Amino acid sequence: MRKPYMAGNWKMNLDRAGALELAGALREHVGQREDVEVAVAPAFVYLRDVIELLKGSPIRVGAQNACAEASGAFTGEVSPVMLRDIGCDFVILGHSERRHVYGETDADINRKVHLALEHDLDVVLCVGETLEEREANKTEAVVKRHMTAGMTGLSEAQSRRVTIAYEPVWAIGTGLNATPEQAGDVHTYLRGVLEGLYGAAVAETTRIQYGGSVKPANVAELMSVDGVDGALVGGASLKADSFASIVDFGG
Ligand code: PEP
Repeated sequence: MRKPYMAGNWKMNLDRAGALELAGALREHVGQREDVEVAVAPAFVYLRDVIELLKGSPIRVGAQNACAEASGAFTGEVSPVMLRDIGCDFVILGHSERRHVYGETDADINRKVHLALEHDLDVVLCVGETLEEREANKTEAVVKRHMTAGMTGLSEAQSRRVTIAYEPVWAIGTGLNATPEQAGDVHTYLRGVLEGLYGAAVAETTRIQYGGSVKPANVAELMSVDGVDGALVGGASLKADSFASIVDFGG
């Protein structure tokens, strides 16, 4: 049984007070619940504050990116070693904004995945096609490449620390979510690819989140799709009441 996994990607939003207020409200809402896993990914500079505030809460805290190098002359970068050092649990890698705005390649992302896992961070690996790729019937080829390339060289044990987030680029921040059928098709396809790579046990236990304009009004329908194991949420994770409702599948 895969525990639902609802994660908020705060991106470059909120100030320190706003991040702490949101984290505090979520801590109250989630309490010690065990039926759902909840995570937040604040901006780097607020990670430590949010980690401190959420001590004792089951809410996990992660970063939105990490460097592919452990240390050295990489001005402006943040190493997974540092993230682990301050108490991060996980890191989001391969987000479409990293791929399409900052030009990260599958090879870059694969190096980051390896280094993050080596330094004891779980990984949320994002995969997803652009509108142009969907219209050219390339969705399966693209998500397969993103997932396979991102996970190249991982042992079976390492693969178990990876959550996949299927995020169609055309649905991110646009208000246009994938239909349950579209999400279901891709999730089923990705689970089949995972089975080919790591076997049935890994495919059965790996969580595949859906991301792209998830909100309180559509989360129940998306979560009812077979194979959708959670959500990676951008805009709707920035307000306590909307993310709390998403954590409750819209309830
Ligand atoms: C995201 O950026 O991961 C995302 C899914 O954003 P939004 O929910 O705003 O579409």
